[in-house]
Amino acid sequence: MDYQPLLDEIAAKVRSEVGRGAVASYIPALACVDIDHFGMAVADVEGRVAGVGDWRRPFSVQSISKLFTLALVLAERKGEREPDTERETEPEGEPGTEDRGSEDIWRRVGREPSGNPFNSLVQLEYEDGIPRNPFINAGSLVVTDRLLTLTGDARGALRAFLRTESCNRTVDFNIAVADSEAEHGHRNAALAHFMADYGNLDNDVADVLAHYFSQCSIEMSCRDLALAAGFLARHGLRGDGSRLLSVRAAKQVNAVMLTCGAYDAAGEFAYRVGLPGKSGVGGGIVAVVPGRCAVAVWSPGIDEQGNSVAGVAALDHFTTLTGWSVF
Ligand code: GLU
Repeated sequence: MDYQPLLDEIAAKVRSEVGRGAVASYIPALACVDIDHFGMAVADVEGRVAGVGDWRRPFSVQSISKLFTLALVLAERKGEREPDTERETEPEGEPGTEDRGSEDIWRRVGREPSGNPFNSLVQLEYEDGIPRNPFINAGSLVVTDRLLTLTGDARGALRAFLRTESCNRTVDFNIAVADSEAEHGHRNAALAHFMADYGNLDNDVADVLAHYFSQCSIEMSCRDLALAAGFLARHGLRGDGSRLLSVRAAKQVNAVMLTCGAYDAAGEFAYRVGLPGKSGVGGGIVAVVPGRCAVAVWSPGIDEQGNSVAGVAALDHFTTLTGWSVF
């Protein structure tokens, strides 16, 4: 399929939405981004990419990184047989059991929408230090902690994965953004210390925070992100055809994206877009059409929940024009 005419049409339709909302300013280094950017890219399951606007321009992925760290943690299933093809039946555990590598993480983080802001502290206290899901900050800190334990270098493992999947060796952290967040990241530090007190972090709090801030500071373009998320469209297969996640685990990640990927507006995102998606306060959103393609969109103006105004509008048009909402 030729995505170019579709992307051109969407870009024209959302022009009036670009510039709406506000650029995230609670991380000072993000505040200087020009709000008028818009880019969108689609990567099909064969790895062909089409784009429009600023689709090759790197931006701060922020919370979109949480999707990839979760996948890398779930990918750690040592000794478990993986099916060779997506059609092959996977071994089922007892009802309620999980794949071996994911067993530990799902004891430490839930997979329900939080209905609260992504950096909220309140729920964590009355739920005994177990974050609602891996895409709010507390949940992602737990995932980063686990990735640090598994790899010894969570940010390095993430960067290596993203470079390979996007076929772009220049994908990197933005040290100034990471430092800026570290300097102003009192809430994230509070969340991490709080969970450490509940015994839900294995590593040193300062180390976990440093890896978390670095992962969020990674800069990628829509092109890079659409390619890097391709494994979710391919039911767990990486770009080179090797398996990252089982079909079952890929389904699970997509499900958590659908229910928890758009902050406390996940319901609204499902209503308008109807795809698994993960957004970040840098104004990026990655969405997945299982079996077909991954889509990335970027426009820095975000709404009060943290979702790109023009980005959601573009994805709304995308599923309306293609009929590819999962609903
Ligand atoms: N680094 C940001 C934070 O922890 C990520 C927020 C986001 O994109 O949702 O506050």
